[in-house]
Amino acid sequence: MDIKQIKKDFPILSRKVGDKPLVYLDSGATSQKPREVIKSLEDYYENHNANIHRGIHTLGDESTRLYQQSRKVVADFIGADDANELIFVRNTTEAINLVAYAWGRKNISKGDTILLTEMEHHSNVVPWQVLAKEVGAEVEYVSVDSDGVLDMNDLDEKISKKPKLLAMVHVSNFLGTINPVREIARKAKKFRVRVLIDGAQAVPHMSVNVVDLGVDFYAFSGHKMLAPMGIGGLYIKKEVLNEMGPFLSGGGMISEVHKSGPIFARVPDKYDGGTPNVAGAVGIAMAVKYLSKLGMKNVRDHEKEVLEYAKEELSKVGGLKIYGPKDVSNRGGVIAFTLDKIHAHDVAQILDREMGVAVRSGHHCTMIMHEKLGVPATTRASFYIYNGKKDVDVLIEGIEKVKKVFGDK
Ligand code: PMP
Repeated sequence: MDIKQIKKDFPILSRKVGDKPLVYLDSGATSQKPREVIKSLEDYYENHNANIHRGIHTLGDESTRLYQQSRKVVADFIGADDANELIFVRNTTEAINLVAYAWGRKNISKGDTILLTEMEHHSNVVPWQVLAKEVGAEVEYVSVDSDGVLDMNDLDEKISKKPKLLAMVHVSNFLGTINPVREIARKAKKFRVRVLIDGAQAVPHMSVNVVDLGVDFYAFSGHKMLAPMGIGGLYIKKEVLNEMGPFLSGGGMISEVHKSGPIFARVPDKYDGGTPNVAGAVGIAMAVKYLSKLGMKNVRDHEKEVLEYAKEELSKVGGLKIYGPKDVSNRGGVIAFTLDKIHAHDVAQILDREMGVAVRSGHHCTMIMHEKLGVPATTRASFYIYNGKKDVDVLIEGIEKVKKVFGDK
């Protein structure tokens, strides 16, 4: 991949932070947007904006068509059999909440178990804790070892007890671990356990095929994959739909309403309560087109190369400890680390101020895993298509500066 050329597609990457060129290493939190995606929003609002479905006029038709086409583009990208299996949501958090409300409240009751892992993002923990408390169910967690890898024996044992749902992350946003989802989903099926995957850190970075993975629900966010904020996707396997109730109810999601009650629209409209984010849908479709042009295998290979280099260079820094799996082929594009006893927020602040490097610090919404590893906070650098080895070099230079500020050397 031609990184120099790719960087040129992202207007924000030519800006400065202070007097330093921006080095953006925070795509795990949100990615930057290429010009084509930004322009697609402008084009939508300048030329096609109208509410969908309602009203028969040219703009309404165009807008409806754009929304439906976008759904097809995104559904194809994740390998869904049918575009109607893809629900547009705001983000991964909303997708998981949708499942917790519309499926969970119908299928999980007192005494049932919801199985998570210790490496989950809070977005895949809290909705289940809330549901469990409400209905009297239990939440259990599959153990993760000190290298950030799932304990498969523990998983086997806990799956064999037939929880109602296994909800787990595809790629950890803290450890970088890529979980063997296909293998795990196959195990879950044997015990008739439904499987929800949090793909927030997977869909932007690797080829994902929900049918091949054999999962029931798959959630992801557009803003981490070059698309605007406020749009994301939830894949729901067709056969699970008849186990589900409504989510947000009101206009748009019904076919009829009478004093006696509503008749819900068919999916996907059933989950489109109110006016949807049509411009966002157009934007995520454009993002998918951009990524597809690069090829997801190339995206993954490129990230692996940068990650390998980053791991190598970071491990040369004295006092720096990297978290997560040792083997890069088992990792997504994030590296979280601690540096001596220096607080992660100080590391991130100095990197920003001195070098224009944007990284994230804190618990990265994975407090359970941080607690298990006995660290309150880590600094996380995350890479994407527009990052190259040069960015890693600036990061390393910055880390050496941090050490100097804190009296090392
Ligand atoms: N899951 C994972 C693994 C994530 O990395 C994130 C974002 N940090 C989320 C869920 C939540 O995503 P969003 O804020 O877009 O809902």
